[in-house]
Amino acid sequence: MSHVHIIGAGLSGLATALDLAAAGRAVTLYESGPTCGGRCRSYFDRELNTRIDNGNHLLLSGNRDAMRYLTRIGTQDTLGGPATPLFPFIDIPSGRRWSVRPNRGPIPWWVLIPSRGVPGASLRDYASLLRLRQASPADTVAGLLPHTPLYRNLIEPFAIAALNTPPEHGSARLLWAVMAESLARGGAYCIPRFPKLGLSESFVDPAVAHLTAAGVTIRTSHRIAALQTNGTHATALLAPDGPVTLGPTDQVILAVPAPVAAMLLPGLAPPDAFEAIFNLHFKYEAAPTEAGFIGLIGSLAEWIFIKPGIVSVTISAANRLADRTPEALASAIWPEICLALDIGAGMPPWRAIREKRATFAATPAQQQRRISATTHLQNVAVSGDWTDTGLPATIEGAIRSGFAAAQKVLALSYQGAPVTNPNPMRMPVSTSS
Ligand SMILES: Cc1cc2nc3c(=O)[nH]c(=O)nc-3n(C[C@H](O)[C@H](O)[C@H](O)COP(=O)(O)OP(=O)(O)OC[C@H]3O[C@@H](n4cnc5c(N)ncnc54)[C@H](O)[C@@H]3O)c2cc1C
Repeated sequence: MSHVHIIGAGLSGLATALDLAAAGRAVTLYESGPTCGGRCRSYFDRELNTRIDNGNHLLLSGNRDAMRYLTRIGTQDTLGGPATPLFPFIDIPSGRRWSVRPNRGPIPWWVLIPSRGVPGASLRDYASLLRLRQASPADTVAGLLPHTPLYRNLIEPFAIAALNTPPEHGSARLLWAVMAESLARGGAYCIPRFPKLGLSESFVDPAVAHLTAAGVTIRTSHRIAALQTNGTHATALLAPDGPVTLGPTDQVILAVPAPVAAMLLPGLAPPDAFEAIFNLHFKYEAAPTEAGFIGLIGSLAEWIFIKPGIVSVTISAANRLADRTPEALASAIWPEICLALDIGAGMPPWRAIREKRATFAATPAQQQRRISATTHLQNVAVSGDWTDTGLPATIEGAIRSGFAAAQKVLALSYQGAPVTNPNPMRMPVSTSS
């Protein structure tokens, strides 16, 4: 039987390995880092003397592939968040607070009830969101939508978080792709979910344990430096301890970030513009809130997450903050936290994490550079949040692409002959468990 070599043990590579292992395939995962998880991981921070995530990650209940992944590894109940669709906000300049509470069903009657919606938003403002459905590939969020109170107080923060791109440049089509799978289906599909403990505890460590038990070989601190090819197939992987020769029916999946894929497969032209995400973790025990997070408007901080012993702030589309020091940002943000959470304390110990290439920039131009799973090499496929998933770079997109890559491998005959499929990214995902 052929062997599948997965390069990269982020969520995409882990999802591929889970589906392949479930189908009984022989799999080896190569990860350059000392641990798995890639851009979605937890670690022990010596300065704060506690475990923290590289950055806050928010999911929505409508993220079907992420939920299937968690079910597969038995950690769906490690996610927390409000029991209902609930998005609390505070406008920092005025101190005004409100909560957006969509009803669960598909008919959005909540927009008729002022206490469930955005202050000052009219029915006409809500109706303007339908423009996103007809967005052209070139439309940006800010260019397409009118700048109403609804835009300022809900759509803009949602778009920045979902696209990790300023709305002036962010693709309106990609924003619609997120909304079509969440808000547009009803509140039941947009209940906020996030790990109660940490990203690795929910997404990574149990997956690694599951894969190890299933016989998958996981090689961490194993950077693949190059692929050897014969023009039509990859023939070997260059690993730190020497070349790994590939058998005639072996398959390779590059589940690495876009720049690494371009380095390993010259000729590939994936997304090449990126946006940072800035996270600040304060060691502070704040009183729990109903939602566990709050959105901030008119401030530097965008979202605050309240976890046991830690208050964390996320700022997306953070290339604009490149020349501001972490000290300056922490000093500016702590007073915003105090206002939002009604805290009267001095600034506690903190840790800043700036992920410089957190995601590709979700602009119309970058969207055109996304590629499907297949490559010019018959035994090499690609996966990851930057491939043509139809979604922005998210956990859902990464996992979906990983499952799709596994389906592609499983669809190949043992002789390595490709099965004709005009649209490989959209193959049905496996339902086996
Ligand atoms: C701070 C931050 C906040 C985020 N917030 C959210 C959020 O709220 N909601 C959401 O849905 N998404 C969020 N995301 C996006 C989400 O984390 C990513 O979309 C997802 O983790 C990408 O997974 P991936 O497997 O595609 O890529 P990666 O996680 O980048 O995995 C690729 C793996 O390949 C490894 N690798 C690289 N080169 C090699 C090599 N040569 N050999 C072997 N291994 C190699 C890397 O070490 C890495 O582990 C956020 C991302 C960041 C950084």
